[in-house]
Amino acid sequence: MRQIDILSLYTNDMSFYGDMGNVLIVAKRLAFYGFEPVVHFYNPGDDFPEHIDMVLGGGGQDSGQKNIFDDLQRRGERLRELAAQGVPMLMICGMYQLFGKYFLTNSGKKIPGISVFDLYTEATSDRLIGNLVEESDLFGRLVGYENHSGQTYFSSRLRSLGKVVSGSGNNLKDGFDGAIINNAIGTYLHGPVLSKNPKLADFLIEKAQLNRYGISQLPSPSPVLKRIDELATKANEAASRRPR
Ligand code: GLN
Repeated sequence: MRQIDILSLYTNDMSFYGDMGNVLIVAKRLAFYGFEPVVHFYNPGDDFPEHIDMVLGGGGQDSGQKNIFDDLQRRGERLRELAAQGVPMLMICGMYQLFGKYFLTNSGKKIPGISVFDLYTEATSDRLIGNLVEESDLFGRLVGYENHSGQTYFSSRLRSLGKVVSGSGNNLKDGFDGAIINNAIGTYLHGPVLSKNPKLADFLIEKAQLNRYGISQLPSPSPVLKRIDELATKANEAASRRPR
């Protein structure tokens, strides 16, 4: 069976609003496609696995971000190298912020990031909370839930993940959410986001398969997976109609 190794970053401190569900969803989808998913949970002080096909990270409170940032610095070079090689990554909210240059918290602490994305985040007294709906060139309509004090700005021209239809996204000015570089994606969408956006999940799986096995097309989905995707699409529609 073809193995796919998933690194789940800082699961103990950084898995807000069900973001850990992204790990479970990817693992389950991989199994439905006939792969053998192997999840490596990583917390400060652990070793990185030898082989990494995909990296997932979630959101967290400022305190969680403070707990992990110095360990993250030690792993920064390896993670930047993996991102440059095109390893698919999905970073939600707090980890998205720390995959940028820094997060300046409300209490004035500057938490350094690892600069996979050329962007920075600064907290304001507004908390951006509610359903977030956006249109993405790559994935169509994406839906999730945002809750952050940090507002994120690009330092150079970056591709965003989607144009905000309702909600806030990166900040209160630009009207965009998230960022993509190579196959690394950052976003403010919690949910877990992959539960209502199966195309995003398949993107990660497709890239992992291509990098490891040189095959670009995913196997055709089983009837169970087709049914799951029908339900996910309905959930996406229903959530996108809900007021904030
Ligand atoms: N602590 C960060 C903020 O408030 C991230 C929050 C989150 O991950 N939901 O901006």
